[in-house]
Amino acid sequence: MLKVVKFGGSSLSCATQFEKVKNIVLGDSTRQIVVCSALGKREKTDTKITDLLFILHAHLKYSVPYEEIWNMIYDRFLGVQADLNISYDIKNDLDALKGELNKNISQDYLVSRGEFLTSKLMAAYLGYTFVDSKDLLRYNYDGKLDEELTEKNVKLAFSKYGKIVVPGFYGAYPNGSVKLLSRGGSDVTGSILAKCLNVSVYENWTDVSGVLACDPRIVKNPRAIKEITYAELRELSYMGASVLHEETVFPVQGLNIPINIRNTNEPENPGTMILNECTDETNVVTGLAGKKDFVAFNIYKDHMADKVGFLKSALEVFEKYEVSVEHVPTGIDSFSVIVSGDQVDKCKYELVTEIKKQLDCDVEVETNIALVAIVGRNMAKRSGVCGKIFAALGEENINVRLLAQGPNELNIIIGVSQNDFEKTLQALYESLVR
Ligand code: ASP
Repeated sequence: MLKVVKFGGSSLSCATQFEKVKNIVLGDSTRQIVVCSALGKREKTDTKITDLLFILHAHLKYSVPYEEIWNMIYDRFLGVQADLNISYDIKNDLDALKGELNKNISQDYLVSRGEFLTSKLMAAYLGYTFVDSKDLLRYNYDGKLDEELTEKNVKLAFSKYGKIVVPGFYGAYPNGSVKLLSRGGSDVTGSILAKCLNVSVYENWTDVSGVLACDPRIVKNPRAIKEITYAELRELSYMGASVLHEETVFPVQGLNIPINIRNTNEPENPGTMILNECTDETNVVTGLAGKKDFVAFNIYKDHMADKVGFLKSALEVFEKYEVSVEHVPTGIDSFSVIVSGDQVDKCKYELVTEIKKQLDCDVEVETNIALVAIVGRNMAKRSGVCGKIFAALGEENINVRLLAQGPNELNIIIGVSQNDFEKTLQALYESLVR
């Protein structure tokens, strides 16, 4: 039994959080591979080290005085080291980094120092070996992971050192220069390591006790989901639930390595298990998520139903403008094309003109549409969910603008006016999830 354990920035924000991490890691001898983000926020108004490093880079690039930002970074690292009396001489590394600061310093390299220094601190604190991710995760120049080489490196480092701490969020190109991943990328680092070592569980430690069944900013104290499939998680994440970096699932899914979301501040809570298949059938609906700012292009044409290829011609116009289409609810002589608002910000009017011209039809544009996803593997082949949805929304006088269901019945999407967004999620939560 072997586990990769990844700690996010909020689990590493100060000495107290470091202590919690130590208890968690040393409390289970199978937690041998530790992945660290950079020091995160201590409280809401605080700034993450990663953000400070991005700002520092911008100051350097534009030759703006940067001492103040640098001192903030310096003090935070030194503070953790001093508070816990960690034997690693971080001052030395910080001074060396200061010497490297210049106008042309690589942003990837500079920003990656957040994870690098945090992991060095953690390794010394735990008594584990620090292994630099630039020697493990190797990327080709096109940005694709060299899976073979990476796996070889990871296996070698693990067999050599056993208990290791690895910084998240970056790897290296063939020439050794640092390649930064996208924001939140330490989740992906953990997932890659979990795959390379085919571990029994990938634990992802954060500041909530698992994936929540709805956005806590909209629904008060939503329950945490005990078990969720990778596919359900993808549906929820796609529709706005912020859980893990969206690429986290891919490396581990093939080997069916469970991802366990856990709370560093409540370690006894079992959190959420993300698996290929789940057996728990207690809840019909697993969770809800939603996003605002969709736009509907409503297309009307008399006797459209008799014209073969009409839909295709309309969609070709969207393709021409490189707009990705979310849903296409259809009537007999009309249909809507629903797209995310940011996709058509700049080309809305051109699109309408071209559709009208090409198809000789009427087009109406409707903005401010919100989509809400009701996700649940246990909804398939069960009746009654839609009944409950309409009853709950009817009671709140919420008008349903569109309705869509994927063929696997994993999700039901409803479109409502943006003004009803919060009310919709609240009503559906009460009726379907609580
Ligand atoms: N520290 C990086 C970020 O804030 C990476 C991570 O935490 O996963 O995005």
